[in-house]
Amino acid sequence: MLLTLTTTHSPATDLGYLLHKNPARLQSFDLSVGKATVFYPEADVDRCTAALLLDIDPVGLVRSRKGPAGEGFSLGQYVNDRPYAASSFLAVAIAQVYSSALAGTSRDRPELAKTAIPLTAKISVMPCRGGEILLRRLFEPLGYAVNATHHALDEQFPEWGESPYFTVELSQTITLRDLLNHLYVLIPVLDNDKHYWIGEDEIQKLLKHGDPWLATHPEKEQIVFRYLKNFKYLANDALARLIEANPDEAQESEDEQAGEEARVEAKISLNEHRLNLVISVLRESGAKRVLDLGCSHGNLLRRLLDEHDFEQIIGLDVSHRALEIAGERLHLDRLPERQRRRIQLLHGSLIYRDQRLTGFDAAAVVEVIEHLDEARLMAFERVLFEFAKPTTVIVTTPNVEYNVRFETLPPGQFRHKDHRFEWTRRQFQEWATKVAERFGYQVRFLSVGPVDAEVGAATQMGVFSVESLPVAGDEASKVHATNFLNKAESGSDSTIFS
Ligand code: SAH
Repeated sequence: MLLTLTTTHSPATDLGYLLHKNPARLQSFDLSVGKATVFYPEADVDRCTAALLLDIDPVGLVRSRKGPAGEGFSLGQYVNDRPYAASSFLAVAIAQVYSSALAGTSRDRPELAKTAIPLTAKISVMPCRGGEILLRRLFEPLGYAVNATHHALDEQFPEWGESPYFTVELSQTITLRDLLNHLYVLIPVLDNDKHYWIGEDEIQKLLKHGDPWLATHPEKEQIVFRYLKNFKYLANDALARLIEANPDEAQESEDEQAGEEARVEAKISLNEHRLNLVISVLRESGAKRVLDLGCSHGNLLRRLLDEHDFEQIIGLDVSHRALEIAGERLHLDRLPERQRRRIQLLHGSLIYRDQRLTGFDAAAVVEVIEHLDEARLMAFERVLFEFAKPTTVIVTTPNVEYNVRFETLPPGQFRHKDHRFEWTRRQFQEWATKVAERFGYQVRFLSVGPVDAEVGAATQMGVFSVESLPVAGDEASKVHATNFLNKAESGSDSTIFS
C-alpha cells in the first residue's frame, strides 16, 4: 500500500517538519498492522513528496485473528487484495506514523501546521466500492480536485471489464491535518471491506477525526455506516451524536437514514430487531400505559408514539442530556396537542423508588441493566418489580456468549465501556427466574436477532408478567403487603420534563 503526499509550498521540504520525518532519511516502523516505511522520492525547495509504504502480512494477520477472519480455512483469508489495496490498515498506519501531523501539531513549524498549503495525496491502489461516483461524492464536497484512473481487472483480458481499483489523486490547498483526517476516515469508507478495527471506541475515533467536517458532509450517513461496517447499532449511535452536533439537520438526516436503511440492508440491525420485538411483545400484552425506562434518545418512544394502542407513554432516564435530545428528536414542542398529551419524559433514576412509575401496564428496560453496578441491581429490582409493579416487564441485555462472533472485539472485553457486566444466557435466566419468583411474576425468554446454534442470539430478552392476583389472605399477598407497609415512601426529587 502506497500513499504519497506532495506539496509545492515553498520551501517544500518543510513537509518534513510537518510530518516529523526527515527527508534525508529512510525510516521504518513496526506497527500493529505491519511494517511501514517513510521515504522521500523527491525533496526540493519547489516540490517535495513523502511516501508512506505499508507492508502487511496477510498470513500473520489471519494467525493473530486480526485480519479478514472467518471459520476454519478459506483461501480468501490468504489470497486477497489486503496487502496492496488501501484500507483500514492504511488508516491505522497514518494514525501511527503521522500522529502529530494528524493532530495538527508540529514542533518546528507550528504555524505552518495550521496553514492551508497546496497538497496532493496520491493513493496508488484505492478500492472504490461504489465506483468513481462515490469517490467524487466523498471528496468533492470537501473541496478536493479528484483525479481518478480506473484499472481493468486484467489488462490482458479487457473483456473481463473493470476492477474496483483506482489510482486516486486528491488535490487542494488545505492544512495537512485536515487532509490526513479526511483520508483516515474516508479510505476505509471507500474500501468498505471488513475493517481491521471495530470496537466501541471506533465511534470516538470517527467523531474525533470527523470533527468538524463530517456533521455537515452530504454523505454523512453513508460514511458513518460504511466506516462502522457491520455494526449498525454503533452507526446509529454515531449518527445520533453527529446530529447533536448539527441539530438543524436532524429531521432531514433521519429521513435519509431511514431510506438508507431500507435500501442498503435487507438484513436489519440488531437495534431494529430489538425494537421490533419489544413493540410486538407490548402489543401482545395489550398494554395501554407504557414505561420506557432508560429511554436514552427516545428510539423506542418514537415507535411507541406511532402506535395508537399505547395511550400513555413515559420515558425515564438518569441522563438529563439524553432526555433533552429525546425531546428534540421527538419534536415534543411541535407535536399536536393530542399526541403531546400521550407522552411525558421524566428525569429519574431506576435505583430510587419513584411514585410516578406506579400504575402502568408495561415497562420496557432495553439494554439498561448492564449499565447498573451489580450492587445497585437489587435496588432496581425492588423499585421496578416491587413498587412500580407493571403487569408486564420486558428486560433486554447483551448475551455475552455471542461476543466471540464480533470478530474484532478483543476476548473478554464488553461491548460498551459503560457496561458493568454482560451475562451468559444462563446467568441472565437465573437472575430473571429468581426475580420473578421473589416478586410474584412469571418469566419467559426470547432471543433478539438471528440465533447462532452455538452461542445463541446477540441480545437476550426476558418477558415478565404478573402472576394472577393471589387470593386475599394467602401467604404471598401477606408478604407483599408487609413489604409495602415497611417501606417509607422515599419519593423522588427528580425534575419533570414536559
Ligand atoms: N433503552 C435505550 C438506551 C440504552 S443505553 C436503547 O435501547 O437504545 C442505557 C440508558 O440507560 C442510558 O440512556 C442511560 O442514561 C440510562 N441509565 C443508566 N443508568 C440509569 C439509571 N440508574 N436510571 C435510569 N436510567 C439509567
